[in-house]
Formats: sequence, structure tokens, C-alpha cells
Amino acid sequence: MIRIVEQKTKIDILKMLKDTGAIMEGHFRLTSGFHSRYYLQCAKLLQYPDLTYKIVSELPDIIDEHILQETETVISPAIGGILFGYMLAFKLEKKMIFAERKTEKMEIRRGFEIKKGEKFIVAEDVITTGGSVGEIIDLCRANEAEVNAVVSMVDRSSDAGFDVPYYYLVKFDIDKYSPENCPLCKEGIKVNYPGSKKNI
Ligand code: ZN
Repeated sequence: MIRIVEQKTKIDILKMLKDTGAIMEGHFRLTSGFHSRYYLQCAKLLQYPDLTYKIVSELPDIIDEHILQETETVISPAIGGILFGYMLAFKLEKKMIFAERKTEKMEIRRGFEIKKGEKFIVAEDVITTGGSVGEIIDLCRANEAEVNAVVSMVDRSSDAGFDVPYYYLVKFDIDKYSPENCPLCKEGIKVNYPGSKKNI
């Protein structure tokens, strides 16, 4: 089962995810070790710029006016967050950069800069544990920049616990099972491991 816990927009994002095949059905092993009937692959939706634009266009109504005005730059974790963050920056008429993990740590490359006092929104397509976003917040602050808010399309975290305002469009709750109690394993269905860190 996929349940919508909270939806802050009139557009039906769950339907958009289903229609574009972003919610994959089968038998999946998640990075967390749990098994699930569903796997969320947001890239399947974000490959359509018109749909992505429709989604990000909902955000200015949700985000605090003062934060929208003050923010100079959107920053996203590569690779998953780039398409969403770039389109959000286009809608908000801001600059956009991304951080990437060349080794274990998130860093900015490609001549991007985080300037002292620069004001950021961190944008990610789906927030599961909040780990990458938390690292980007730290990266901005290490460069004496400010993070005004975190923004995501889907929230899958029970509590990401950011110390800045967090805005998301939809929050899902998706059934998952420990391998010992997995009904799909009991049915003998082969388990897939999508091999992405972005998981449900
Ligand atoms: Zn299973």
C-alpha cells in the first residue's frame, strides 16, 4: 500500500508518479535492508520537463514569501536532485548549482562557488533519510553561507529533523517488510535490488 499522509497541493502527484512509471511495482530490496512491493524512481517523472515544471510551480504558494525573496541560489545533491532543483530555480528565477560525491563527502566542483553570506534553498526530489541534504547544509555553513530552507517534491522521512524550514508537496507512507516477514519472499517472487541510494 502507498498512502498519502499529507498533500499540500491540488495536483495529484501520486497519479503523475504512477502514470510515468515512477512508482515501480514488484519485489524490491531497499538499501535499508527492508523489502517492499514498491520502488520510487522519480527520474521517470522528472524526465518530462513539462510535468516537472507543473510540480515546481506549486511551490511558490507554499514557501514563505520572505524566504523566496531572500534566497539567491538553489543547491541540490547530484544526481537525483539536479533536475528538480534546476527547474525549481528556473521557476523562482534563481541561480542553481549542485554538489556531488566524488569521494565520500559532498563537494562542489565544476567552478561552482558558495560565497560567504550567500542565501540558499536546498532542493531534493525525494527526501528519505535527509543524509545528503544535511551534508549540503553543512557544506554551505562551512563556507559561511546561509541555508534558508529545504524543499522537496516527496517526503518519505519520518522526521528528517532539519534546523531550517522544510517544505514538501506530498508525504507518502509505503509498506515495507523485514526479509523474515516479507509476504513476497513467502510467495517465492524474485527480489530486485535497484541499486540506487534513493529508495523507499
Ligand atoms: Zn521479500
